[in-house]
Parts: sequence; structure tokens; C-alpha cells
Amino acid sequence: MIPPSFDYHVPRTLPEALKLLGDLGDDAKILAGGHSLLPMMKLRFANPAHLIDINRIDELRGVREKDGRIRIGAMTVENDLIDSPLLQAKVPLLPEAARQIADPQVRNRGTIGGDLAHGDPGNDHPAISIALDATFVLAGPGGEREVKADRFYHGTYATELAANEIMKEIVVDPFPAGTGYAYAKLKRKTGDWATAATAVVLRVANGSVSHVRIALTNVGPTAIHATGAEAAVRGKAPSAAAIEAAAQAAMAACDPAEDLRGDREYKVAMAGEMTRRALRLAFERAGVRVQA
Ligand code: FAD
Repeated sequence: MIPPSFDYHVPRTLPEALKLLGDLGDDAKILAGGHSLLPMMKLRFANPAHLIDINRIDELRGVREKDGRIRIGAMTVENDLIDSPLLQAKVPLLPEAARQIADPQVRNRGTIGGDLAHGDPGNDHPAISIALDATFVLAGPGGEREVKADRFYHGTYATELAANEIMKEIVVDPFPAGTGYAYAKLKRKTGDWATAATAVVLRVANGSVSHVRIALTNVGPTAIHATGAEAAVRGKAPSAAAIEAAAQAAMAACDPAEDLRGDREYKVAMAGEMTRRALRLAFERAGVRVQA
């Protein structure tokens, strides 16, 4: 299927892209990897008169460490997250999760910023960013502002991004020693979106969970920050009972739509199972034993 016709703009700098976005208004859309936008245009769900291709803006690409924080350009593609020695060493949840996204072709073009900005509850980066407590840097005509990942999503395809803003960077903190993490994703086949998935980041100090963040993919209208599941393990000794309580709380937070991946009951049950698996692996990686 062929998308409707559009005018194509190729700015070389972020200010140039922002000016175009401001001038062209609601008729314009940012084009990143195109792996979500172009299918939507082909299906006539989106019909922008102008595409502003930001692939040639070098400052939007790459992973760097500055002032003790990791800054990821919004135009960094999944394969560059997977191959980044900095992320492998300091935020290994991101390469682990990126490896589970789509297929090699999509990972060569699809960007972290596009995955986040699209607002699709099936996309994996929103839950991963919530688990990482990431900050998004949004650039607009009046300068930059920062939004925490767990405040960014208002609904399916509805985000905090204004029509005249561009996501510039994703900022995350390096994992302190002893951090456990996991992204457990159930999918029907390689290249599919999640039936359900759970992202976990945690730490244990003096025998009890001192830090925990848990978020769920594709079991609600947006990624879900599973605060009830976090409360079930925070301050507790790592145990099978605490993991089960977290899984039950995660399931209670789900509100999935029924589709070809399963009915509501199945998806909720799978979100519980992904939460159990992610927590067990995260505890193992944190080097702590889970009491039976
Ligand atoms: P685009 O498609 O170019 O843009 C998406 C939207 O975000 C558009 O509205 C665009 O205007 C906006 N946008 C993009 N970048 C910015 C920015 N910097 N600032 C402001 N707005 C911006 N994703 C997953 O998470 N998990 C999967 O398992 C998965 N499987 C897939 C399988 C297939 C076969 C395909 C085709 C896609 C799959 N995807 C999956 C989606 C893929 O990861 C997309 O690449 C991603 O959703 C969008 O990123 P993009 O760079 O292609 O953005």
C-alpha cells in the first residue's frame, strides 16, 4: 500500500527542525525511523501534509556519559543501543530489552525516541524507561524542558509532547554496583510486540529490597508503572512470597485490550508470570538468594 503524498523536509540542525515544525504546524510530522509512522500513513491512520526527516541531525544520535549521567540521543537506533559498550557496562537493561524489539531490519532503523514518542502501549521502551526512572529532554521553540518517563504518557498515542516539540534525549543513571535488572517479554514469535512484558530494576541492602521499579508493557492503554507491585517487595526480604505478592499486584494493575495475542484473562495472567520471571532474574543478577 502506498502512503498519501506529502512534502519532505530534511533539516540539518535541531533549531532548523524546530522552526519547520513551528511554521508548518499541525500538518507536519517528525520522521525518525519511519517504522511506526509509515505503516500508519499507509493505513490512512495518519495523513501529514509534511514530513520533517530528522535523520541528518547528528546531535540527536549516540550514547554518551556526561556529569555522571548517561545521555542517549533520541535518534539512536536499537542496534546502537545493543552494541553500546557504555550501556552494556552501565545500564545493561537497555541492550537486553532492545535485543527483544522487532527484528534486525527494524532495529537498524527504529529509534529509541520514535519508540517512546509514538505512544503505542505495545512498544517496549516506555516501560523500560519507567523502570529506569528515565528523564526525557523535550526541545521546543522556547528552549528545553525535562519530563520523567512515568509522567509522559496520557493515553494510547497521547503523550506529553506538544505538537511543536521534538524529543531530544533520554537521560538515565548508571546502575550502582549490585543492581539487579531484567526485561521478561512474552511474544508469539520473533519480531512480534509483547503479549505481556515486565521491566524490573532493584537493589537489596542489609537483606531487604532498598530500591525497586517495576513497569509493564502492552497490558493497558499505556505502559503501566506497577507501583503496587513495587510496594509488595520494597523493604521486604527477597522471598517467593514477596515475588508472588508483586505478581498479584501487577495483575491487579492491568487493563489490557483483547486482540489476536489473547483475551484479557490470558494477558493479565501472562503479565503476572512475566513479573515473577523478571523479579527472580533481577534478584539473581543482584547476587541475592530468594527465600523459598
Ligand atoms: P517513526 O515511525 O519515524 O515515528 C513514530 C512517531 O513518533 C511519529 O508520530 C513521529 O512523528 C514521532 N517521533 C519520532 N521521533 C520523534 C522525536 N525525536 N521527537 C518527537 N516525535 C518523534 N516496537 C517495540 O517497541 N517492540 C516491538 O517488538 C516492535 N516490533 C515491531 C515489529 C515490526 C515488524 C515493526 C515494523 C515495528 C515494530 N516496532 C516494535 C516498532 C518500532 O520499534 C518502531 O521503530 C518504533 O515504534 C518507532 O520508531 P521510529 O524511529 O521508527 O519512529
